Amino acid sequence: MKARENDNKLGRRQFHTLAMGSLVTHPLLKLMSPALLTSLASAAPAYRTTVPQDPIAKLSGIASTAEFTGDEPDPNHERFWNVDGYIQKCGGIPTATESQNVVIVGGGLSGLIAGYHLKKLKPLVLEQASQFGGNSKGEVINSSYYSLGPAYISIPEQNSPSHRMLNDIGVLKYARKESAADKDVFLNGKVLPNFWTGQHEDPKVFAQMKQLLKTFESNASSFNQMTVNQWIQRNFPQITTTLYEYFQYYAWSSFGATLDEVAAGEFFSWQASEQHGVMVFPGGNSLITQFLYQNLVAAVGPSQMRTKSAVLKVIPGNGYADVVVEESLNKLKTIRTKYVVMAAPKFVAKKIIHNIPNAQMQAMNNIEYRSFMVANVSLRRNIPSKGFDLYCLKKEVPKVPTAANPFTKGFTDVIFSNWAQGDKGSPCTLTFYKAFPYQGARQFLLNPFAHNKHRDYLLAELQNYYPELGITASDIASVRMTLWGHSVPVCRARFASSPQLVLASQPIGTIVFANQDNFISPSYESSEQSAVTAAKQILKSLR
Ligand SMILES: Cc1cc2nc3c(=O)[nH]c(=O)nc-3n(C[C@H](O)[C@H](O)[C@H](O)COP(=O)(O)OP(=O)(O)OC[C@H]3O[C@@H](n4cnc5c(N)ncnc54)[C@H](O)[C@@H]3O)c2cc1C
Repeated sequence: MKARENDNKLGRRQFHTLAMGSLVTHPLLKLMSPALLTSLASAAPAYRTTVPQDPIAKLSGIASTAEFTGDEPDPNHERFWNVDGYIQKCGGIPTATESQNVVIVGGGLSGLIAGYHLKKLKPLVLEQASQFGGNSKGEVINSSYYSLGPAYISIPEQNSPSHRMLNDIGVLKYARKESAADKDVFLNGKVLPNFWTGQHEDPKVFAQMKQLLKTFESNASSFNQMTVNQWIQRNFPQITTTLYEYFQYYAWSSFGATLDEVAAGEFFSWQASEQHGVMVFPGGNSLITQFLYQNLVAAVGPSQMRTKSAVLKVIPGNGYADVVVEESLNKLKTIRTKYVVMAAPKFVAKKIIHNIPNAQMQAMNNIEYRSFMVANVSLRRNIPSKGFDLYCLKKEVPKVPTAANPFTKGFTDVIFSNWAQGDKGSPCTLTFYKAFPYQGARQFLLNPFAHNKHRDYLLAELQNYYPELGITASDIASVRMTLWGHSVPVCRARFASSPQLVLASQPIGTIVFANQDNFISPSYESSEQSAVTAAKQILKSLR
């Protein structure tokens, strides 16, 4: 047990504490016992969804999409392209007619977690989209839950703040753990079990890699000064083709960036988390946002949880801030509040916060975001899960895509959504991931033909997997395509854990920041750490 606790210090939950200690308040965490997880999973009761603004949408039947779900780009692009012009078009900023203790701008994972920790102040949560959850949203058809994006978290230590929150909101009992031993991949369409044993290549190389993951903690934070490729060249030139291919796809799929960009410390802390095992819920992380949402509605009342409420301006005052929100199309309202939690990403925050200091604006401008596509393919009949998240490898190093040479590959990895439900959900749904690890992808994805083009890439490639899955084209009942245009901040070497990055999230007056981009690390853990820090900043100033 001792060794495993030490192992877990390397995980992505702990890494920010090492790398950005002053910002992070969580202690180092330990592993949750596998026995407890198993007993919790087997005791799982039925879940429920309630009203249409829930993070998990209940579908009445199986239907393919004709256009992307996910982002709701209209009318947001018009709003935020020239926000002051838009406000003028709506009649200008009205005088304040409502007052609140705390307004949380953005009801994604970070905003909901901040809300949970500020419950006693009865925060108002304003979400521009028609559902809460941000990109941690899901869908349920009959008894099948699947994610439209985030799929898993690293395992929280028992009785840690994170563990207590997940337990308190009631979601923990649905967790299932994927251990490193469960990690399989597809190699040329066939399942290759126990990838990390390296049994198909050189087991010694895989063993060395595992050993390196165990020992990189000693100077882990300095690893953010180099890219993953630089780290590999210096420390692990013996890497095999398949392991390198896996790393390449992992960087694209988990960071939306390439091995020439991603900070090595961050990347290997994630790899270490994978080695320790991950925690998975039916519907992925949307089950967490669903339970957080329900918990908040019960605590603060439904009138404090408002969707279709885009915040257009946040104006810091002396000990307060004015929040200008579009309550319905072109109808603005101003809310005066003591505190604001800015849980929207910085590419929005920098447009809506009035008078951001120049240096901080510059720091915000340095954060880049990438696009991500997810496809959920539901089948007419259930097939047994081949594992949880399987990367689709070929034993060749793929070319790094660019805007000029985009890749036509249908997906990098596939999740068997039913795995989290012990194969009990129906219809069985496969979730395919495709990130766009380069700048400039978004404009092509907004093209009206993009939905069908990418669906067709996916379906063409999926045919290679039919024999191993035991399906044919006629088993496919629906394909639902989701697009997240600016969803993942790029975790660039040298910028990650730099003073510049810390500056981007410094409070402005009574406005504090909570979003995964506080750490430019696209994960549950960074959302949670940023939200807990923001809530503490507010609670501390009240004392
Ligand atoms: C495809 C995909 C897969 C992923 N997989 C994983 C995974 O397996 N595990 C993991 O840990 N992480 C994963 N992630 C990372 C994921 O982004 C985070 O886990 C988390 O969901 C980020 O939450 P957030 O609240 O910080 O940001 P967001 O989800 O972006 O939430 C921000 C919210 O603010 C709202 N908003 C923006 N502007 C305004 C405004 N002006 N007024 C009001 N509201 C506004 C947005 O609509 C949104 O709801 C994945 C991400 C993607 C895209």
